[in-house]
Amino acid sequence: MKSYPVRAALLCSLLLLWSSFVQAVRPQPPTGKVLLLSDIHFDPLADEAIVPDLVNHDISGWETILASSESFKKGVYPTRGKSDTNYTLFHSAMSAAAHQEPFDFVIVSGDYLRHNFVNAFANERQPQGEFPEFATKTALFVLETIQTTFNVPVYFALGNEDSACNDYGVAPGGMFLKALAGSLRVLADNPEAAADFSAGGFYDLPHPTLLNVEIIVLNSILWSPLYFNCQSDGSDPGSAEIKWLSAKLYQAKSSARKVILVMHIPPGLDAYKCSKDAKSKSTTSFWRDVYLSQFAGLMQSYGDIVQIALAGHTHMDDFRILTTSEPSRSVAFRITPSISPLFGNNPAFSVLHYSPSTGEISDTTQYHLDLGGSPATVQWTFEYRFPSVYGYNALTPSNFEALAVSIRNDPTVRQTFSGYYAASAPSPLSTNGWPFYSCAQTLFTASDYSSCIESQEAVSCKTDK
Ligand SMILES: [Zn+2]
Repeated sequence: MKSYPVRAALLCSLLLLWSSFVQAVRPQPPTGKVLLLSDIHFDPLADEAIVPDLVNHDISGWETILASSESFKKGVYPTRGKSDTNYTLFHSAMSAAAHQEPFDFVIVSGDYLRHNFVNAFANERQPQGEFPEFATKTALFVLETIQTTFNVPVYFALGNEDSACNDYGVAPGGMFLKALAGSLRVLADNPEAAADFSAGGFYDLPHPTLLNVEIIVLNSILWSPLYFNCQSDGSDPGSAEIKWLSAKLYQAKSSARKVILVMHIPPGLDAYKCSKDAKSKSTTSFWRDVYLSQFAGLMQSYGDIVQIALAGHTHMDDFRILTTSEPSRSVAFRITPSISPLFGNNPAFSVLHYSPSTGEISDTTQYHLDLGGSPATVQWTFEYRFPSVYGYNALTPSNFEALAVSIRNDPTVRQTFSGYYAASAPSPLSTNGWPFYSCAQTLFTASDYSSCIESQEAVSCKTDK
């Protein structure tokens, strides 16, 4: 018979074994934190010395090749306003975001590939026929790196640069979409979502922690006036996507479920382009009018079940508020700033906080990399928290609406918003052109937008006198 201390020790080790087993099988409780990333625009051509190696290897060898680049070894970051994301910036953004873990999931609102990729690839004296494979490998490398770094569900939306043919070119059902569908881990157990993504680049999945919420990832490139079909088969996938969205919203509402919408290009006006074209008074819309009105019609019926819409594309820290005749159906679009500093902004990412019991979204916390200082001291830091700066404790449509009014009418609030707009880099809102940006927050059609700008300019003329 074993002595008491031996039995006690045996019991202790059994208990330890049991508790480690329970820890291994029991899912961690939700943290209420979501990482938001957008517009990475990774440039594998940033160091031309390693390009032939990248072309000749599959992505399993890319990390080693990229880490061997001289600019990475020296820690050289891209210049603000000049270049997209090189490996130094991509690597440091992933580490900085991983520093804020744990996350329940990650949302990436598109644009994995650098701007002007086709021409830059040709300039590297690489055969043009190799471009589709190289673009696909680059996108897969970015997706794989994000999924491996965070090891939680990652929901990816397609951006206008995410194409194996050219900017805004999509081939529905083509090789590029199929390759991405095969690599998106969230699609692995959901054949219907995987088939939807392969066909049109959009899909719908259950929320990973909330039972009554769905994540609907849209492909808003199909709704852009610049969209073209790389295979030019004459079909209208944008219209098919609206029908699909309508069915998904109907099903969600009839089952008392809410939705989070994810997309790359938000609806409404391109404030940057409109401000550049101010003299000619011409306006540029992000979506074709027909899709904007169909989408607005859907929100008129289903806006009350949309918790939030998450977008990117402008590269700036911004929002839109689509109002409907029924206030409870207005929809707030949160725009996540970009990792790429190409548009003169600092690289940035957001952490969104929600309640794991109610789903209510209470906060976004911003982190940025100030590229304006001395290169030796460049590091990612906390930038600001939405509630502390603006005084709202929930990211609801009515709070965004109130904030948009304050930005328009209160110079102090406008100055604060302007300071963070380009992730603390110099902001276009600090000039007389601020109405272009302010009006874009609440007005979605060209005529409403133009009247808003005219009335704001009249007001600022009066106050200037
Ligand atoms: Zn972009």
